[in-house]
Amino acid sequence: MDTTPDTAGRGPEPDCLFCKIVAGEVPADVVHETEHSVAFRDINAQAPTHVLVIPRDHHVDLVALATAAPDHAVEVLRAAGAVAEQEGVAGSGYRLVANSGQDAQQTVPHAHVHVVGGRAMTWPPG
Ligand code: AMP
Ligand code: ZN
Repeated sequence: MDTTPDTAGRGPEPDCLFCKIVAGEVPADVVHETEHSVAFRDINAQAPTHVLVIPRDHHVDLVALATAAPDHAVEVLRAAGAVAEQEGVAGSGYRLVANSGQDAQQTVPHAHVHVVGGRAMTWPPG
């Protein structure tokens, strides 16, 4: 279980990479935006389509976001669907991945959903 404290409501985290992308302090290839979400291409794409959808506010992972701001979590998921449509993978299928904590190899502790598609996936995940 992820024991990192959620810092919801405290504004941007100074050392958070994705907060810096939201603020425009770190460049990103943004493909979709809503009031409470931003979507940009993963810098280390694992498939022809690999986009990260994040809330603008800082929460440590998707469950923390859903707990603190359920409407924003829904907005992130709807944005993921819009990205899949926009990328042309909604029909062929795609995978949504939300890593949480150490065993899942979450590397950026700001909530995000990976939208991965454009090739056949395997199961189980590694
Ligand atoms: P996770 O491992 O689930 O925390 O996912 C974090 C993702 O962020 C990884 O897939 C990284 O490739 C990606 N990433 C790291 N830095 C950047 C960046 N500057 N721009 C876009 N994606 C990034
Ligand atoms: Zn953040």
